[in-house]
Amino acid sequence: MAVQRYSRQRELIYDTVCASTAHPTAEMVYAALKPDHPHLSRGTVYRNLHLLAGQGKLRRLPFPVERFDGHLEPHSHFCCQACGQVSDVHNAYDPALDGAAQAMGHQVDRHEIVYYGVCAHCRAEAE
Ligand SMILES: [Zn+2]
Ligand SMILES: [Zn+2]
Repeated sequence: MAVQRYSRQRELIYDTVCASTAHPTAEMVYAALKPDHPHLSRGTVYRNLHLLAGQGKLRRLPFPVERFDGHLEPHSHFCCQACGQVSDVHNAYDPALDGAAQAMGHQVDRHEIVYYGVCAHCRAEAE
């Protein structure tokens, strides 16, 4: 019984991350699910996110507050310094960028680009 409940919660948590374009933090996933799932605890959300990331189903993102991404293919991110929002940037993955590290003898599996600045939404609000 318990096992079944846990796997259903995990699926729910996984689906929430995959359906989101916000690259949610554990807290954001918890806040999104809590209204419809009052028995869900922060600990369960946190534990399952890490479990899913450990299984390679979600990607942990290297931002000051850990975020999760259900979109696994290499892609870039924009991080707004005003509102903290993280969004996808649809640029082409450029294998030439791996060259600098390969020239040092490293095996490169992927690289990640993070752009920092002020997002279009915050810019529009500032006008
Ligand atoms: Zn912003
Ligand atoms: Zn992303």
